[in-house]
Amino acid sequence: MIATACPSSPHPLPGPGAGPRLPWAGTTIFTVMSTLAARHGAINLGQGFPDFDCDPGLQQRVAEAMQAGHNQYAPMPGVPALREAIAVKVAALYGRAYDPESEITVTAGATQAIMAAVFALAGPGDEVIVLEPAYDCYLPAIELAGATAVRIPLDAARGYAVDWDRVRAAIGPRTRLLMLNFPHNPTGAVLDAADLQALEALLEGTGVVVLSDEVYEHIVFDGAAHASVSRSPALSARSVVVSSFGKTFHATGWKVGWCCAPAPLTAQLRRVHQFMVFAVSTPVQHGLAAWLGDPTPYRFLPAFYQAKRDRFVDGLSASRFRALPARGTYFVLADYSALSDLPEQAFARWLIEHHGVAAIPVSAFYREPVDRRVVRFCFAKQDSTLDAALARLQAA
Ligand code: PMP
Ligand code: GLN
Repeated sequence: MIATACPSSPHPLPGPGAGPRLPWAGTTIFTVMSTLAARHGAINLGQGFPDFDCDPGLQQRVAEAMQAGHNQYAPMPGVPALREAIAVKVAALYGRAYDPESEITVTAGATQAIMAAVFALAGPGDEVIVLEPAYDCYLPAIELAGATAVRIPLDAARGYAVDWDRVRAAIGPRTRLLMLNFPHNPTGAVLDAADLQALEALLEGTGVVVLSDEVYEHIVFDGAAHASVSRSPALSARSVVVSSFGKTFHATGWKVGWCCAPAPLTAQLRRVHQFMVFAVSTPVQHGLAAWLGDPTPYRFLPAFYQAKRDRFVDGLSASRFRALPARGTYFVLADYSALSDLPEQAFARWLIEHHGVAAIPVSAFYREPVDRRVVRFCFAKQDSTLDAALARLQAA
């Protein structure tokens, strides 16, 4: 590597010889598929976002915040009223009382919380365990931080369950972080209380920090309760728990999320957060703070999305797709091997071009080539959109 000196700094900077970052990464699969869907006029069940609007009452709260003059920088860790509202919500749901002052940080969506946490807590020489399939920003975050990813597959034959023995076997002296994401994108797998116990037991006596991405915390089906790591005193004491208002309030475009972590971990995270974005949208934070006091919107979410899951899965049963179990999130995986021998990426393009429906190839969530003939559909859509897509999928 060629090093060039910065005149004001004694430290060498990487020169052109360092090469581009993330040389293996193309444009994200979500952007690729949404672009193709738009080009072909396809129904977009690929990228995960609702095609219905967020609540007018919430929009009103944000508009009021703007009109009240909340338009300058927010405090770096987040608007106090919002951090307090998050603390109340998390304590009511999971029984862990985070201190809004020192343990809760408002971020630019879950993506930035994850980036800040990985940058703050892992670096060269450290290993970070990730479960594959993995949400697309995890491996780039680890690589940009200079740490090494240790990838462990979820067990596809057991409904993408975690093999905790494999996780235990992967933990070594260099393991710094274990990244979890349940309810799981893209598989819809969830954890239960027994998983939390297994996790507690295997981390005991280690210095491993858990980075738990729980953005789909309110989208869990069939009467199950979300197994947040915040429920376990032992786990919450070593975890950074990330969530996002985008999923919960149908407002993915607002990009406001948060993370809860014990004060020493939060202090490390904020050291990075302050230079990554400093603070995030002030009026949106005030609007969310006013809205969060009422738990009704997220209490309805499981039933709301379960009805959509059932509608979509029922419809798929009249097609040559075979839906896999979906226990949480607003995604369902579908096996298309009865329909086509094409590999996943090619199949997803073919489906757009020939049948006008966009999906996401699950292979995009793996670092090494994988091809199980499975694609992901997003069912966070109006019933009319789902029905129109189903008619096309049934004809394929
Ligand atoms: N994690 C997972 C598992 C996600 O699915 C998403 C977005 N769909 C994010 C993080 C990013 O959330 P945000 O849009 O709030 O950055
Ligand atoms: N998280 C969304 C998904 O899984 C997409 C977010 C994005 O486009 N980056 O589809």
